[in-house]
Amino acid sequence: MSTTTAKEVILTGDRPTGPLHLGHYVGSLRQRVELQNRYEQFIIIADAQALTDNASNPEKIRQNILEVTLDYLAIGIDPKITTIFIQSLVPELAELTMYYLNLVSVARLQLNPTVKDEIKQRQFGGGVPAGFFCYPVSQAADITAFKANFIPVGADQIPVIEQSAEIVRNFNRTYNCTVLVEPKALLSNFSRLPGTDGKGKMSKSSGNAIYLCDNADTIKNKVKSMYTDPTHLKVSDPGRIEGNAVFIYLDAFDDDKKALSELKEHYQRGGLADTTVKNRLTDVLIHKLSPIATQRKEYAKDLAQIMAILKKGTEEAKEVAAKTLCEVKNAMQINYFSHPIKIDPTFNS
Ligand code: ATP
Ligand code: MG
Repeated sequence: MSTTTAKEVILTGDRPTGPLHLGHYVGSLRQRVELQNRYEQFIIIADAQALTDNASNPEKIRQNILEVTLDYLAIGIDPKITTIFIQSLVPELAELTMYYLNLVSVARLQLNPTVKDEIKQRQFGGGVPAGFFCYPVSQAADITAFKANFIPVGADQIPVIEQSAEIVRNFNRTYNCTVLVEPKALLSNFSRLPGTDGKGKMSKSSGNAIYLCDNADTIKNKVKSMYTDPTHLKVSDPGRIEGNAVFIYLDAFDDDKKALSELKEHYQRGGLADTTVKNRLTDVLIHKLSPIATQRKEYAKDLAQIMAILKKGTEEAKEVAAKTLCEVKNAMQINYFSHPIKIDPTFNS
């Protein structure tokens, strides 16, 4: 007798607002390549969410759908075992969002620290778009539609995942069911990679990113301008490695841990120039990223194939999401035709 059990589900994804960067790679992408073999993995290209702060620039989103997909394939996401799909082409997600919006208060949305920070950072001149303010609810729809158990994300997304879990509990309690599954965040060791400016997290919107598709010269120039230890003025000064973005990147990408630990000791003792450490980082990054760039170029030769991958993934995702939506509507008793409304003799009496 077969004893196979269904694999647990991973839902993860990115906003197509620019190509993917080192923060994505160590915060989430690297894990996805390993996880795809052990879990049923869905990757959402969150174009509808990206429009919440880019409404006037759909062309940017359109273009980046392709860029992000090329990045996925280049790092080793296998479309035969991972389902890659486009959010807006699965309208079931928008419908779920509508129902979940009724289970969250405006006050609770206002408390979300991630959204608060992002609103501040984006300086929305004409006011915060309601869609942006509510994106954690649409994220809950994305997650629950696939009954995802785990979400590999960077630390910035923890409050958003918590909010999804709250919505799940509220839904199951309100409609006295077990339809929705509570998600958990999966964090990597580098869940908040700083930007090249050493400030905050590396992010597309902050202009402090090294992209997976950057060429050797661009990498070199970006590393050259990186923030190090501001008190390390002369080569002979002892330097600090804590909070020093160059060393944080080396920790994340340098596979020769022994040489790295000697480099760190030397820097802390004094006598090691920032340029030497930066040259090492440049070499390490070029070594890591050049095979990705080569793969990317290969995939970019056949864009019809990329579109076919997205189409197939989107069709598969739509099927799963439609099944969950049906269960959700049954639980809410709003599937009026499959469960017809009957006359209630006590109604209005
Ligand atoms: P945007 O500026 O448009 O919001 P972003 O650079 O923040 O772009 P997202 O598409 O919002 O990227 O994030 C996709 C995923 O990558 C999320 O899970 C997020 O937590 C993770 N991530 C983004 N930046 C980092 C980072 N610097 N370190 C670790 N993980 C990150
Ligand atoms: Mg972001």
